[in-house]
Amino acid sequence: MIIFEHIQKQYSDGFIALKDINLTCGNGEITVLIGPSGCGKTTTMKLINRLINPTKGKVIIDGEDISTINQIELRRRIGYVIQHIGLFPHMDIATNVAVVPRLLKWDKQRIDKRVDELLNMVGLEPETYRNRYPSELSGGQQQRIGVIRALAAEPSLILMDEPFSALDPISREQLQEELIRLQKEIKKSIVFVTHDMDEALKIADKIVLMKDGNIVQQASPEEILRHPANDFVKNFIGKKRLQQVAKVPSVKEIMVRKPITISPKRGLAEAMKIMESKEVDTLLIVNDEDELQGYISIFDVLNEFEDESKRVKDIIQKFEHVVNPNMLLTEAINLINENNASYIPVVNDQNKLRGLLTRGSIVGHLSDVYPFNNNRGA
Ligand code: ADP
Ligand code: MG
Repeated sequence: MIIFEHIQKQYSDGFIALKDINLTCGNGEITVLIGPSGCGKTTTMKLINRLINPTKGKVIIDGEDISTINQIELRRRIGYVIQHIGLFPHMDIATNVAVVPRLLKWDKQRIDKRVDELLNMVGLEPETYRNRYPSELSGGQQQRIGVIRALAAEPSLILMDEPFSALDPISREQLQEELIRLQKEIKKSIVFVTHDMDEALKIADKIVLMKDGNIVQQASPEEILRHPANDFVKNFIGKKRLQQVAKVPSVKEIMVRKPITISPKRGLAEAMKIMESKEVDTLLIVNDEDELQGYISIFDVLNEFEDESKRVKDIIQKFEHVVNPNMLLTEAINLINENNASYIPVVNDQNKLRGLLTRGSIVGHLSDVYPFNNNRGA
């Protein structure tokens, strides 16, 4: 964990770049610093690996005040990736990646193994890329090398200062996806600087929004979107994104509130009759306590119909997925899509049936929100 305690940074020309920064970056999390150019993001980063020192306050990493740690040793414990990564042009890729392990005097075998492992991690075939030179790689590939070079000696902390800003939009998105995937595996503490809100929302566990040497808000992306601290934050997020958030309803606002149900004790003829009169091909099964047990389909009823001893509970089918009434509709839609379901039951924390989310109810909602026809030819 990194903690900034009342950090002030005044440069030698008298300019105060950071005023009173109090900040926590959690272990295994991606903390994203964002804000307009000149607000102090890079200054904040450089204080973490002591490229510069604060004029007031303390930076504490895992309980240690870093002013007491040897600078060189500190920097070896921290990976650093910057926008123009500066791979050494006269060194091949393997040698570039292994800079820090060599400084740490790892033996050759261990280094070679690590280089191949890292190249594989970012989808660059070691056989092909190990002995190439930086100029023989695309911008996106070079930046991948920058990222794995920072990971090479297994630092617990990685600083990334606008690492993807110079890339074209497609490479940038690819690297963002890769970082998210990689982070699931490596679970490092990452401090990441960007000025791109989409990037921040995509990768951050926590967003720290800065302005003129101060922190305006630090919170999860969800919290920032839902409760922006002031107009500056709102403007920075942008009207469009805020409107999108405001529009996303929760499942309970969209669901069908009275799904057709049946008790597990009933017989199959009764089930058939209900299906017929309500014009549905499945019934949700709930017990006397309103708890969801599963469902029966018309096909199962027809198959077993001859056997008069059979009850609903004998041909019950279980649901693999249910959703909570408070889940965001977008999440529920993903679940429905992934499972190719036509509906999904909505139950509360006690497994009591609260409703049913159907493809039909979702479409109905969307056509309310986006009245397509009304905008034509205006
Ligand atoms: P960001 O990374 O958010 O764009 P920086 O942290 O690089 O901003 O810079 C913050 C402010 O500090 C800027 O106004 C910048 O001009 C100033 N600054 C940065 N480095 C120095 C320096 N060495 N001496 C004086 N001012 C500096
Ligand atoms: Mg900067």
